[in-house]
Amino acid sequence: MGCVMLRHGKDYLASLRDGRRIRLGTELVTDVTTHPAFKNTAQSFARIYDLKRSPENIDYMTYEEGGQRHSAWFMPPRSKDDLRLRAEAHRRVAEWSCGLLGRSMDHVPSFVAGMSMKPELFDANREGFGQNIIDYLDYLRQGDLFACYLVLTPQTSRGVSGPSDPNFRIVGEYDGGIIVSGQKMLGTSAVFSDEAWIGSMIPLGPDQVEEAVTFAVPINAPGVELWVRKSFEQNAKSRIDNYFSSQFDESDAVMIFDNVKIPWNRVFCYRDVPLMRDMYFKTPGHMLGNHQSNWRFSEKLKLVNGIAHQAADHAGLLGLPAIQQTLGRLAAGEATLLGLLSAQIDQCIELPNGYVHVNNRYLYAALQWCASNYHQIAEEVRLLLGAGPFIMPADDSILDDGDVHDTFESNWKLPKATASERYRFVRMAWDLLASDFAGRHQQYERFYGGPPHIMDLYSFWNAPWAERRQGVQNILDDMVAPAKKLAAE
Ligand SMILES: Cc1cc2nc3c(=O)[nH]c(=O)nc-3n(C[C@H](O)[C@H](O)[C@H](O)COP(=O)(O)OP(=O)(O)OC[C@H]3O[C@@H](n4cnc5c(N)ncnc54)[C@H](O)[C@@H]3O)c2cc1C
Repeated sequence: MGCVMLRHGKDYLASLRDGRRIRLGTELVTDVTTHPAFKNTAQSFARIYDLKRSPENIDYMTYEEGGQRHSAWFMPPRSKDDLRLRAEAHRRVAEWSCGLLGRSMDHVPSFVAGMSMKPELFDANREGFGQNIIDYLDYLRQGDLFACYLVLTPQTSRGVSGPSDPNFRIVGEYDGGIIVSGQKMLGTSAVFSDEAWIGSMIPLGPDQVEEAVTFAVPINAPGVELWVRKSFEQNAKSRIDNYFSSQFDESDAVMIFDNVKIPWNRVFCYRDVPLMRDMYFKTPGHMLGNHQSNWRFSEKLKLVNGIAHQAADHAGLLGLPAIQQTLGRLAAGEATLLGLLSAQIDQCIELPNGYVHVNNRYLYAALQWCASNYHQIAEEVRLLLGAGPFIMPADDSILDDGDVHDTFESNWKLPKATASERYRFVRMAWDLLASDFAGRHQQYERFYGGPPHIMDLYSFWNAPWAERRQGVQNILDDMVAPAKKLAAE
């Protein structure tokens, strides 16, 4: 095995203590590894780094290039086997985090790997930007770094139904690069990342040239501050009452730039409005990135379906045809998604320059399916819990030994579960499907890939309409073909 370029969890945690500035309300947080709003989730990410390089996983999570061993998501794929390796790496990261870390460390590097497969697109903006992409991928790969992205301008800057108020913009240049100021949204996992990718996936208007800039910046760069939403981890009571929110709260942050200097070698697009969006959709970037999202979702779905089956079992309802139907629908959904994931790889697309990418149609169908179905799936499984969550005692102190605990055990037990097991199961299900944390996840699944109407449009843009229309035309032609007129006519 070549030289191993894979970070240890402890080194990752040490790198987070880099003077970054995070606003939690008015409080300024500089160390997420010790703060109660973030420290458990930081540990969850560190654990992924350690699991990835462990002997039982390393062959499934990494690849070798130039005598060095790197994380699979930095690999620009050249074959179906490469895609399979990348897929298994995504799947394992998701499995280790119950599909709850949407922007895990394998997400944004997959975008960058996809973009590096078409550097000439960037060079058309400015000679050297293509090399900047390749070098940036290498920088992330060599350090096994974690990058997030913020690719939305604030709503007031979009000029959808009124004049645009440019917020984030280029404010100047200096000898070595450019200077930017303003606000970008929305950096999921930003507080746990080394780097942020800044751009706009939303189309900019032709006059928004001063906002047309894409670059990368270290999270601790002078002039950068992250403003985070309320922390679920900080409000989690215990590992039992809040199993997921206490350790998988990836956080979402707005990034504020105050005259931040960006060196030219980290700039990928400058004053080029079409390239701002083309870099995602005219390279395999968006597809490779969202392939990770599909695998992440599939692991979460398996967990949700497991909860559905156990809830029905606890309630003694598994034998009912109506309940079996519900479970059957959930199972069919899971199989549909897994089928779409396989098809993305089996029917991958070969590019003339020797690279391959996942099949676009199956990718966008899966993305649309996940975004449109998660809230209904969560609702259906929550219904199976019935009043279960509300007949449970107030908190997990009931699990301690003592007279009250004995009363609890004898009255709350089920034929297939002790009262304590039942308590732990119900709390777990509630945290995942109905808590504040669960509400954020419902919104996340709806929006992480863009607003709901765009989810449908991806498939509209990628469908072979000409072929479909030809099928219709063939029949119309056949109707008027003289040789085929019915004898009776
Ligand atoms: C939990 C969470 C995490 C996220 N993480 C990230 C991240 O890591 N990085 C990142 O860059 N972004 C992230 N996003 C942002 C996400 O990409 C946006 O939420 C999404 O693009 C929608 O933009 P918006 O929120 O500004 O909604 P808006 O564009 O303001 O839309 C609001 C509502 O209006 C509807 N709407 C708007 N325009 C139209 C139209 N033309 N036709 C029909 N309906 C319309 C939308 O569908 C939506 O329901 C995240 C979002 C969420 C909720």
